[in-house]
Amino acid sequence: LSVQDLVNESLYRIQEVDPKVKAFLSVDEEGARQAALSLDEQLAKGGERGLLYGLPAGIKDNMNTEGWKTTCASKFLSNHTSIYDATVVRKLREAQSVTIGKLNMDEFAMGGSNENSGFHPSYNPWNLDYVPGGSSGGSAAAVAAGEVYFALGSDTGGSIRQPAAYCGVVGLKPTYGLVSRFGLVAFASSLDQIGPITKNVEDTAYVLQAIAGHDPLDSTSLKSTIPDYISSLTGDVKNLRIAVPKEYMGEGVSPQVKESVLSALKVLEGLGATWEEVSLPHTEYAVATYYLLASSEASSNLARFDGVRYGVRTDNADNLIELYRKSRSEGFGAEVKRRIMLGTYALSSGYYDAYYLKAQKVRTLIKQDFEKVFEQYDVIIGPTAPTPAFRIGEQVDDPLTMYLNDILTIPVSLAGIPAISIPCGAVDGLPVGLQIIGKALDEATVLRTAHAFE
Ligand code: GLN
Repeated sequence: LSVQDLVNESLYRIQEVDPKVKAFLSVDEEGARQAALSLDEQLAKGGERGLLYGLPAGIKDNMNTEGWKTTCASKFLSNHTSIYDATVVRKLREAQSVTIGKLNMDEFAMGGSNENSGFHPSYNPWNLDYVPGGSSGGSAAAVAAGEVYFALGSDTGGSIRQPAAYCGVVGLKPTYGLVSRFGLVAFASSLDQIGPITKNVEDTAYVLQAIAGHDPLDSTSLKSTIPDYISSLTGDVKNLRIAVPKEYMGEGVSPQVKESVLSALKVLEGLGATWEEVSLPHTEYAVATYYLLASSEASSNLARFDGVRYGVRTDNADNLIELYRKSRSEGFGAEVKRRIMLGTYALSSGYYDAYYLKAQKVRTLIKQDFEKVFEQYDVIIGPTAPTPAFRIGEQVDDPLTMYLNDILTIPVSLAGIPAISIPCGAVDGLPVGLQIIGKALDEATVLRTAHAFE
């Protein structure tokens, strides 16, 4: 099979199913064909194959791709062309994968259903009446529907893991700082992390291998040495010590989801692992802490969209203040405005100590909960989300219910540690995700545990 064949197959599949799934915001057919041709020619001349040689990929539309639109699914950036490549985009090219297109998302990655996209929602390939999750819903849907071999997503509070769970694919949020954020449009900089969405765990190991590593262009990028993730997939989980937090299997988690998780634990037990119940006592404060911190950081990060430097500018402003105000009111959607207002309020003098500073302290307590458990256990396992995907429209007018879906993914983000979601069953034809959480920089153990199911 030539790379041109693979790319043609991917483009054909997109033509066939994307009118229904609507995972893509843009497809670069010409660019993809060109890249495929040149990879085939290089190989014919005796060139080496890169780690991701010839694999068609999709990129969430909040990562910069030079000469190509990057919209963050926002009307504000509907005309914005990237002037440089994100580090991950460069690394994928160096590993010789072929970028096919940019994927839909909740506007500026704020949301959990893709319904906050400024352009159109995406649909769950398993049942088109249901959401694919979010905010990397386009990425998860495109992989689940077989439109690309893998995709990149970003996860601030669950945006890789939750859509992966809803779409029955694999999604990894790496340790904060393992993958460069250079060229990722910032939502909440202390939480944002890029990661792979793939069909299986082995593919995740390959993509992670290609994108992980220090980047001098990202000041929060870690300098740690990158292990060989691929050779960590030994299938051996003998004597692995698993912790199952009671807070992750409690009220609000659907009984069928719990059952799926328990049967996955049985499989691991059968392979020689052991599990015990533990407590992460500050879990109940995680959602409030996250929405306060993430919104605060977002209000600051999104200040750059002022109608002058990037994107769309209002046509009817008589002075500068009006230009800012009107450009922002016309360009941003309702959820983005809600978060900017919440964040600005929490950061304002007089409220800073009561809200932002308090939330930072609770964040530390949440992180310490994990550290304590990891003194005695190798991984933590629970569901990725309390329920399978919900119906389109079901929660769109109820932001608080929507926020509560994130209860099981957010603590990991606040602690900066790695976690993967893998499929572990289905309820009424909709996939259920199993979440495997590891120590900081211990992606190898997370991947090894996940791989035991393959
Ligand atoms: N659903 C969460 C939110 O709306 C997570 C988003 C994300 O991880 N980007 O903020």
